[in-house]
Amino acid sequence: MSDNILVRVKDLKMHFPIRAGFLGRTIGAVKAVDGVSFDIMKGETLGLVGESGCGKTTTGRTILRLYEPTSGEVTFRGIDLASRGADEVRRTRRHMQMIFQDPYASLNPQMRVGEIIARPLRVHRLVKTAKEEKELVAEIMQKVGLNVNLRDRFPHEFSGGQRQRIGIARALATSPDFIVCDEPISALDVSIQAQIINLLEQLREDLGLTYLFIAHDLSMVRYLSTRVGVMYLGKMMELTSSKDLYDDPLHPYTRALLSAIPIPDPPLERRRQRTILAGDPPSPANPPKGCRFSTRCPMAVDQCRMVEPEFREAKTGHWVACHLV
Ligand code: SF4
Repeated sequence: MSDNILVRVKDLKMHFPIRAGFLGRTIGAVKAVDGVSFDIMKGETLGLVGESGCGKTTTGRTILRLYEPTSGEVTFRGIDLASRGADEVRRTRRHMQMIFQDPYASLNPQMRVGEIIARPLRVHRLVKTAKEEKELVAEIMQKVGLNVNLRDRFPHEFSGGQRQRIGIARALATSPDFIVCDEPISALDVSIQAQIINLLEQLREDLGLTYLFIAHDLSMVRYLSTRVGVMYLGKMMELTSSKDLYDDPLHPYTRALLSAIPIPDPPLERRRQRTILAGDPPSPANPPKGCRFSTRCPMAVDQCRMVEPEFREAKTGHWVACHLV
């Protein structure tokens, strides 16, 4: 495995059982993630994009082992966590953290900000004395642009943007290498979004972090991602460099997502062709046979409804799952 790979995901599946009846018999499964493979390189930001329900958040959570995968492999720095004992998993997990979409829901309303940030330090036994803890919390608060004098306040006393800074500070407390950012700006006012993006970018540079950045629309990840993966109904449809994805999208689903982004130039916006996606994605409990996108794809042919396209490297570093590419 190349030294540059921090996280390797191989044929990862996360199926949630559907239970019914008095005895809770399993009658099916929601195939939230259904066989995705990709690498995340050290120091990069990999954007993961797709409509709601495509499996991007479940992918992020399963990588962090917040869910036990149904099958497949996730290795972090070459270590397969599933094959290691509880102690090693705990030690490794300290290096993998998550920033949540809704900063308010993810912060304990009864804890003071200083305690919220200090908690991971205690859980992972990273500080020996109260003084050391206080200093470290102050240092982390400064790093994310929070006023240290506010450490005894409660989350509800902060604005949305400041709360997300608290969430970021909590994630940074254990000095991680890798952070899953799960739509960290979608719940924030547009005026605040750029500040949080700039902060995340600055932290990545200063601390050498690697991000998996989950977002529901491509415009959000364009400028901060090194590479971008597009998911649909539990599968990866396309994965390539950010530049290639925007300049030369190969998958019809990616093209449709890109065509939904408004161009801030009215004449150009009027002239361009749009691909409108009809309807909602099918249920991940009952995905279509063949290509998952076949029920909505404007280019679908008979083969698409019968045979699942392979996820293959169509150009160097540009992966796509489509029969017509
Ligand atoms: Fe569309 Fe067929 Fe390609 Fe799927 S395989 S994206 S249905 S053209």
